[in-house]
Amino acid sequence: MPPARRLDGIATAAAIRAELTPAVAAFAARWGRSPGLHIVLVGDDPGSQIYVRGKEKAGAEAGLRVTVHRLAATTTGAALLSLVAQLNADPACDGILVQSPLPASLGPAFEQQINDALDPLKDVDGFHPTNVGRLAQGRPTLAPCTPSGVIELLVREGILLRGRHAVVLGRSDIVGKPMAMMLLERDATVTICHSKTQDLKAITRQADILVAAVGRAGFVTADMVKPGAVVVDVGIARLDRREDVVRMFGEGSARVADFDRRGSVVVGDVHPGVAEVASALSPVPGGVGPLTIAMLLANTLKAAEARMARS
Ligand code: NAP
Repeated sequence: MPPARRLDGIATAAAIRAELTPAVAAFAARWGRSPGLHIVLVGDDPGSQIYVRGKEKAGAEAGLRVTVHRLAATTTGAALLSLVAQLNADPACDGILVQSPLPASLGPAFEQQINDALDPLKDVDGFHPTNVGRLAQGRPTLAPCTPSGVIELLVREGILLRGRHAVVLGRSDIVGKPMAMMLLERDATVTICHSKTQDLKAITRQADILVAAVGRAGFVTADMVKPGAVVVDVGIARLDRREDVVRMFGEGSARVADFDRRGSVVVGDVHPGVAEVASALSPVPGGVGPLTIAMLLANTLKAAEARMARS
């Protein structure tokens, strides 16, 4: 079997962003202001700092007005809720994103509390229960960015979803569950797997489309994949031990050479051996990651247009 076709998230994200730029300009011309995206970043988690910088830069390039609220890790829950209330009331704020994870000191339930406090019309991450419910009912909504990006990738790459068996590995509120709902909405037959699933391989091997969102480097191996399946790798893990990179990619591989230059590499949930079995595969990096940002921009414009249409 020839190696899997690469599902190019960078090119797809660039196409989406190229479509958004004139649409954002048209919004600004019509309403006399650019769509406003507000990002709330609490604490100094290094990964979050990088993600927020990426969102800020991409938003500005598309013509959005992006404001980042950088708050100390000691910020209280009351202060955060007060900021959200202020942004909910701000007529020039169209989208609010509270970067996850929040500091552990705010308590395990606080992320849900802050999502609940967002105006659903400004909830560009699609985590408010109203938006989750609307997604479950197949109604127009602001849907979570990562699974929305996966759907865009599959659709724009011409992958048929209707009637096919899609298996989603992972059941988080951010990726797995909304992913399953979106695939169902597009008439796939959907199975969700998680850490308690028995005989996982027997299920993943039935998948025509396999979406991996587990968060374990190289978890999906070639023997778990049906020949010819389409595999989308949502996972992101940083390997900072050379022996782990060698185990996954082999001595002498380009990724080991990358590691030797940089001291770490970013990998996904899917083992490289899957490329010999699948018909199409999204890489990490360069797959779902860029699409997540593109869909955040798309959601911000959508939220802005929906709010202005109501005004
Ligand atoms: P999460 O909340 O930790 O969820 C992981 C899911 O994987 C859980 O449902 C868990 O099952 C399941 N799981 C864990 N071990 C398993 C096993 N041995 N067999 C089967 N299922 C297993 O993670 P997440 O937020 O969904 O993120 C998943 C991955 O996607 C992470 O690597 C994350 O960094 C990445 N991600 C990427 C993007 C992007 O833009 N590319 C965006 C978001 C997330 P249980 O529910 O039973 O525990």
